[in-house]
Amino acid sequence: MSLPVLRAEEKNFTVVIDAGHGGKDSGAKGRTIYEKAINLSVAIKLGNLIAENQDRVKVIYTRKTDRFIGLDERANIANHNKADLFISIHANAIKNASHISGTETFTLGLANSKENQEVAKRENSAILLEDNYLQKYEGFDPNSTESYIIFEFMQNTHMEQSINLASRIQKAFKGTKRNDRGVKQAGLLVLRKTSMPSVLVELGFLTNSEEERFMKSADGQNKLAKAIYDAFVAYKHEYDKRQNVAATPARKVTSPPKDSPTKAPASTTASAAPKTTTTTQAKKNVLLYKIQILTSEKKLPANSKQFKGYKNVSFYEENGLYKYTYGESTDLTTIKATHKKIQKDFKGAFIIAFKDGKRVRQNSK
Ligand SMILES: [Zn+2]
Repeated sequence: MSLPVLRAEEKNFTVVIDAGHGGKDSGAKGRTIYEKAINLSVAIKLGNLIAENQDRVKVIYTRKTDRFIGLDERANIANHNKADLFISIHANAIKNASHISGTETFTLGLANSKENQEVAKRENSAILLEDNYLQKYEGFDPNSTESYIIFEFMQNTHMEQSINLASRIQKAFKGTKRNDRGVKQAGLLVLRKTSMPSVLVELGFLTNSEEERFMKSADGQNKLAKAIYDAFVAYKHEYDKRQNVAATPARKVTSPPKDSPTKAPASTTASAAPKTTTTTQAKKNVLLYKIQILTSEKKLPANSKQFKGYKNVSFYEENGLYKYTYGESTDLTTIKATHKKIQKDFKGAFIIAFKDGKRVRQNSK
């Protein structure tokens, strides 16, 4: 019996799986195995799980063999393929602390602890093996703390989604009985130029003999790959829902009122700091759409370069992050048109909805 072929179900999502290091770059060294080998095995196991179970997802690897590849080149592969997600896979090491173990997942940001900074230094040192790394990375010295200042002023359009995936991965790792070291930020060069949500996973410590054994074993690698896969599926599910929000007309908006002037009076003065959404501008029970353009750990000044000259940028606070939005309308068609226009400046911007001044999530728990 043959099943009908559903040609219409084309791939709608591309994930790039990046096995860290390779070739002349071994990465961290365990007693019996190199980091590069573990990274590659887990990357391929993860890719196979996705390819076998997710019809609509295209999997691209930065490497499938033991070969050297630069950090920027990895990001370029993702960018050229217009990937929707970038997952870099690594294993950790720490000097003179063989008792330390556990998983951690990084998103791009400024390291807020010496420990995180050390991970960035170690992982970024891979560029020292690249030809012309001084020109390629504009004089970036992976071992100098001063070099990392560039990460403080980095635009972080995808921070929210990156952290979302990172949290899901850490949650899924708990099933592998690893110590949960949490979601962290650090100035990781491999994530710097990716123009999509991106994370770097540290599977465990090669300097801990028990973890080395686990990560070297097929069973351990299968469990780690499955955990990342489960997190990916949950993330993708949420992604699909969000796409549907933007693609289907808002049924909830019954007879939208005549558009009241959409600009908040307070935000028309360019010199004033962006204002939070006030409930007065949102009519009761009507969805007010906005476009989220970027997320920041710190409050940004109204004239911040990150706004790229856009005026009337607003923000709301959520989970300790400042989330900046542009435009607002109760009419989805209007906001979609604005969304289309600003995408050239804010790749990854997406439409969100507020009701009674509160953000509405389609997948509210
Ligand atoms: Zn690594």
